[in-house]
Amino acid sequence: MRIEEHAREIWTCNHCAMCTGTVVDEGGFYKTCPAFEQLRFEDNSPRGHNIMAFYLLEGSLKYSEQVANSVYNCTTCASCEEICKPMGNMIAQMGGSALKTLLPKLMRPLGAELEPIQTVAILEAMRADCVDYGFQPEPLKKMAESIEKNYNPYGAPHANRAAWAEGLDITQIPDTVLFVGCSIAYRRQEIAKATAKILQHADIKFAVLSDEWCCGSVLLRSGNVDTAEKMIRHNVELLKSHNVKRLVTSCAEGYMGISKDWPRFAGELPFKVMHISELLYELVSGGKIKFKKPIKSKVTYHDPCHLGREMGIYAEPRAVLKAIPGIDLVEMYPTEHAAGCCGAGGGVKISNPELALDIGTAKIPFIKETGATVLASACPFCKTHFVDVMERAKEPIDVKDITELVAESMGV
Ligand code: SF4
Ligand code: SF4
Repeated sequence: MRIEEHAREIWTCNHCAMCTGTVVDEGGFYKTCPAFEQLRFEDNSPRGHNIMAFYLLEGSLKYSEQVANSVYNCTTCASCEEICKPMGNMIAQMGGSALKTLLPKLMRPLGAELEPIQTVAILEAMRADCVDYGFQPEPLKKMAESIEKNYNPYGAPHANRAAWAEGLDITQIPDTVLFVGCSIAYRRQEIAKATAKILQHADIKFAVLSDEWCCGSVLLRSGNVDTAEKMIRHNVELLKSHNVKRLVTSCAEGYMGISKDWPRFAGELPFKVMHISELLYELVSGGKIKFKKPIKSKVTYHDPCHLGREMGIYAEPRAVLKAIPGIDLVEMYPTEHAAGCCGAGGGVKISNPELALDIGTAKIPFIKETGATVLASACPFCKTHFVDVMERAKEPIDVKDITELVAESMGV
């Protein structure tokens, strides 16, 4: 079983349920696990997953359709890890370095741990076991088959991958490569076009590689490890063969997968990896982007889980939005490390679309409380999903990617 790799973490989770409950802070209160908030059964909570992993390891529970149903409702938002983390840090800070050294020795036999439990890694290993034992939900199995065949999850022909770039006259100097990603290439071409136009007008020479394959992140999140490895190895070889120095992507999930997962399978990457929000921040700060048209709107920013909690990028997209003339950026609560998930991640939009929509809908009151008429984000999954959420709820909130807002204000 793949969860054996995580045995120590599984045994040391003390099942305290901090990750499953409600957090009260200076801004009010919020629920930690978006899936548990909707489903209200312990087996859909992070603690519930860890308890199942414990009994699977111990041998008194076997993988089944029921186990798979529970573990596939998680959006891999990592909110549970964020909550588990401060507990350990808080205890360590209370006692200083002596207690920090002593406590693990005292607490481990009791089943406690000072570091955050890697709940998402445990869950992804459970999903990989579900794939191995034949319990993966059918829609995700089909998605993995589509990626094997077409190198994208949408069943679209590989030959059309760079169709969005037609007429844009991209230089094809592959010092910097714009890694577009499946969701932007096939579903959110407006983000691809906005990104390319911004880079062209900021004098950044870049290439788009038409033989780019799926980055593999959605495969790893849903347990399809072997297919993911195939995608990753192809992409790394392709980029190495072009002697690429810098990879830029506008996809939050892709950015996390490339930064964190690719090195696990392909070793240290010989190029720098940047999310577009980091590059935009550099360009805006360096005066390379000239805004021409004000966008007179109240905007609130949704932190994509895989860009924020997973990669720690909170400041750059906000700084870029604030630099756009006319935009009144209003923070919603909860935000940054505590931000609510959109509901689409971890393959949930594919395996349980109703749950995904319900999780996204639960965020609407927090968005409306800001008075914003535009919801900005920096991820094609978040955009696609919030467009669906607002449409179902009949809410007149415009959903935009930061690249679209920048391009609009630049007049390109
Ligand atoms: S993952 Fe952390 S917060 Fe959650 S039950 Fe285990 S120890 Fe407690
Ligand atoms: S990653 Fe998010 S959805 Fe999954 S168990 Fe943790 S808090 Fe819940």
